[in-house]
Amino acid sequence: MSDDAALPTALLHELQALRSVLDITGAYIFCKDLQGRYTYVNQPVLDLFGRSREQVLGHEDGEFFDLERSNQLREHDQQVLQTGQLLEQEELNYVRETGEQRIYWTVKKPVRDAQGQIIGLCGISTDITERKRIEAEMAEQHQLLQTVLAHVDAHIYMKDDQRRFRYVNAKTAALFERQADDVIGRRDIEVLKPEVADALWAMDRQVFESGQAQSGEETLIDTHGRTSHYWTVKVPLKTEAGHQVLIGFSSDITELIQQREQLRQQSVTDSLTGLANRRHFVATAEAELSRTQRHQRRISLVLLDIDQFKAINDRHGHTVGDEALRALAEALRPLVRREDLLARVGGEEFAVLLPDTALADAALKAEQLRAAVQALRVPTPQGAPLQLSISLGVAQTGPSCEALTGLYAAADRRLYRAKHLGRNQVCAAD
Ligand code: GH3
Ligand code: MG
Ligand code: MG
Repeated sequence: MSDDAALPTALLHELQALRSVLDITGAYIFCKDLQGRYTYVNQPVLDLFGRSREQVLGHEDGEFFDLERSNQLREHDQQVLQTGQLLEQEELNYVRETGEQRIYWTVKKPVRDAQGQIIGLCGISTDITERKRIEAEMAEQHQLLQTVLAHVDAHIYMKDDQRRFRYVNAKTAALFERQADDVIGRRDIEVLKPEVADALWAMDRQVFESGQAQSGEETLIDTHGRTSHYWTVKVPLKTEAGHQVLIGFSSDITELIQQREQLRQQSVTDSLTGLANRRHFVATAEAELSRTQRHQRRISLVLLDIDQFKAINDRHGHTVGDEALRALAEALRPLVRREDLLARVGGEEFAVLLPDTALADAALKAEQLRAAVQALRVPTPQGAPLQLSISLGVAQTGPSCEALTGLYAAADRRLYRAKHLGRNQVCAAD
């Protein structure tokens, strides 16, 4: 410093300008002699050490760094001075004043005199502690994401508005029966059957058109023709590069859907015979009747009851009674049309709803049912097969029986008339 006064003014100005530039570079710039004493430091070095220039120049690193722990620092200095080579490396140092650990990107270079003799070194260090911390954090996040994506029990994928997959997790690739690399970069119609791709694109398009997340059920048929169901959420996203994409999450709910269908089936079915149960019969018949009224069509109802069933139970036991009910249901089933509804509406009472059927035709159908039951033989453990008969009442919608209760009451009245008249017969009039 004291030498500065001896310099010509122009050179002095230039030197001062140069120093102020070095002070604001944001990097640590320094020169040392062969003994490791500082011969130049810029302002950031002074700030880091918390010392004045006089306290630093002519002093060694031991005063400013914890050299026990900052061994790389001396090693690198020695290497430059001994080899005369430029050294570019990461350096981990501990500042004595604060005990802080800092990571630097350091470039160190030997300084030579006019004869080419090494007389020291100069260096420039950039503090990359924060960058390293962010990099480590990002690597951790990446690791977390990769682990989640690989092990989560869901299909996760990213698709752009050109129908191109930009990402699929392993589970999605497995579903498509391909390697992930073989899916990423391809359009859905190159990976999936056109009808499957188009079906999935329906929700994708809604996401891109609305800019809103969408959710719902999706169905997929794989190459073996197996159907699977998914609950899907698709979320729109604009990438850093400005691409419009969506991220989709699909969870397999095939089992749930199957259970739901099973439960729905159970709720409308009689467990003993497999026919429609009373509740389903009433709901369907009411809907059918109101439709019939609107279109001014006729609808008929046949009610039937097994004759002397109590005695059959008493003689052969309840199990044979149950078997008889099942056999009777199987005998009746093929005699009704697809549009008719055959139901078990009571213990040993059955009903057949016949849409678009006049009373006379319904009576004929009833007679057919009666004959079929009469021809039926139910095996019994005792040996001789069991023979059944039924009594039937038939009614048709009309002014007095528009609602189900009226129609049902009319058919029931006639059923009991058939019983009264000697059983094993059809009654279609009061
Ligand atoms: P009828 O109808 O000819 O007047 O005489 P019935 O003996 O059949 O008389 P009713 O219709 O009143 O009797 C119904 C009997 O049906 C009572 C019960 O023992 C029997 N039953 C009802 N539900 C079941 C069932 O689920 N299984 C069996 N095995 N028997 C049943
Ligand atoms: Mg009965
Ligand atoms: Mg009976």
